[in-house]
Amino acid sequence: MKDRCDVAILGAGFGGALLALMLQRQGLSITLIEKGRPRFAIGESSTPLANLYLEQIARTFELPELLPLTKYGRWKTTHPELPVGKKRGFTFFWHRPGHRWSPDLDGHPAYLLVAASPHDAIADTHWYRPAFDSYLTALALRAGVRYLEPARPVTADVDAGGVQLGIATPDGTRTLTARFVVDATGPTAWLVRHLGYRPEPHPYLPERVAVFAHFRNVARADAWLNARRDRWPYLPDEAAVHHLLEEGWAWVLHFDHGITSAGLSLWADRLPARDPAACWHLILARYPSLQALFARSAPLYPLRMIPERPTLFRKLAAPGWALLPSGAGVLDPLLSTGNPLTLLGVWRLAALLVRHRAEPPAEALQHYQQQTLHELKHTARLLGALWRVLHQPAPFTLISKLYFAAASFRETRIRLGRESGIPGFLLTDHPTFCRLQERLLQRVEQGLLPSPDAVRAALEPFDVAGLCADRDGFYPARAEDVLEACHKIPASREEVWRGLQQSGFLLAPA
Ligand SMILES: Cc1cc2nc3c(=O)[nH]c(=O)nc-3n(C[C@H](O)[C@H](O)[C@H](O)COP(=O)(O)OP(=O)(O)OC[C@H]3O[C@@H](n4cnc5c(N)ncnc54)[C@H](O)[C@@H]3O)c2cc1C
Repeated sequence: MKDRCDVAILGAGFGGALLALMLQRQGLSITLIEKGRPRFAIGESSTPLANLYLEQIARTFELPELLPLTKYGRWKTTHPELPVGKKRGFTFFWHRPGHRWSPDLDGHPAYLLVAASPHDAIADTHWYRPAFDSYLTALALRAGVRYLEPARPVTADVDAGGVQLGIATPDGTRTLTARFVVDATGPTAWLVRHLGYRPEPHPYLPERVAVFAHFRNVARADAWLNARRDRWPYLPDEAAVHHLLEEGWAWVLHFDHGITSAGLSLWADRLPARDPAACWHLILARYPSLQALFARSAPLYPLRMIPERPTLFRKLAAPGWALLPSGAGVLDPLLSTGNPLTLLGVWRLAALLVRHRAEPPAEALQHYQQQTLHELKHTARLLGALWRVLHQPAPFTLISKLYFAAASFRETRIRLGRESGIPGFLLTDHPTFCRLQERLLQRVEQGLLPSPDAVRAALEPFDVAGLCADRDGFYPARAEDVLEACHKIPASREEVWRGLQQSGFLLAPA
């Protein structure tokens, strides 16, 4: 059997499904090919930037049905059937082996809470990926996308004139001719590997191993901070919760329907065992307070273990094909950078494919490749520096502010309509910030620590969130901080006030 379409998309994770929906709605014919979606998918925590990108995608591509997914409040009222978790910010707890967690460590708070939103209605979300990806696929189908599942590409002949794919299905092998093919198979990166490209090592992140599952009955850690309750910017567990350990770190993401996503990202050379369940138990046994959280828990599936190598594909696109950022290289999930980067890649490719009716020119694809690699490298370098100081609260807190300042600066500019076209990621397109950040990270890479004054001097021109102040580990999202920093955007106080009002930032908590 022979088929034709404008764009073939390999992989119906949230990236592939969303791209299919956007392109079909803009009048291109799309075939989406999925090998068989796993019951358990990972990559769940969103951020304000991810949600702002999704909101802008919804408006630009006339997809109002996506808007409820961009904020916790709207999601809960519009889609009570879609599992979700509330994410008010990033919470970090530092642990020492053999000791119960305590709020002070070597004279520094053993915690860091950075709010991403001022109240629940506009909070970010944890996406329960099996349901989230299926919902996006259902929207794509409703828009007219042709969907093949289970189906796998087995051959691909790509040239500037288009692509011919051999697709294995239970009914036999089909030939699909498309003008363009997008590899949205995530870390599998099926097409790019099939075309003969291999990922290359990069020096920024260490070699890691992830061990993870979904659990029931995971206890909450809120009470650990009870003595400082009056300072909480949000309930500490209503966040992407990070437990920082000598061997790496653990994530805990609670969903409203009682399931918790939890995992370990560990130095590959500090693995206590090769078996995932043994590794999980041996690590937890070293950290009594973390172990207590999981004392009554049970995993829904056997724990998984995957190696995470510091590699990147350098070739991401050429006439006839492109790879999403999520396939270019797996960064560490420490700051939830995977999903916003994937959304940016989806947005950029959709814009190119619509403008050029599925035949983007080589220069445009080259630009996509350069921008994506630049963002991935900067992000990997920042994450790599954080890995070097992972179990030291003071330098980690200091260096993480580079991320939080860049993210909140970009978010504020987007909220105030100060970005034209597709915005960049963090401040990776700001030469001055990049230069300053690189200088600071270079010191960390040399085993030195940047001074707090040097970090503050770099941050100050971009800090719209009160990050330069020392707030004893608690950083709320406050309108007054943005108003005081309005000249940095730049915008007047009135413009900032209006922007905050329109974005729902100023609404009182429900
Ligand atoms: C352990 C871990 C934790 C993470 N946590 C976070 C987080 O909290 N926040 C965040 O922002 N990011 C996180 N990430 C990154 C996040 O997972 C990715 O950004 C996200 O999954 C990318 O979505 P995607 O749709 O592009 O790819 P994927 O989610 O990988 O989806 C790929 C799809 O392609 C299909 N597929 C694969 N091979 C084939 C084939 N040969 N043929 C057809 N179909 C195929 C798969 O079945 C799947 O449906 C995490 C990553 C890991 C590894």
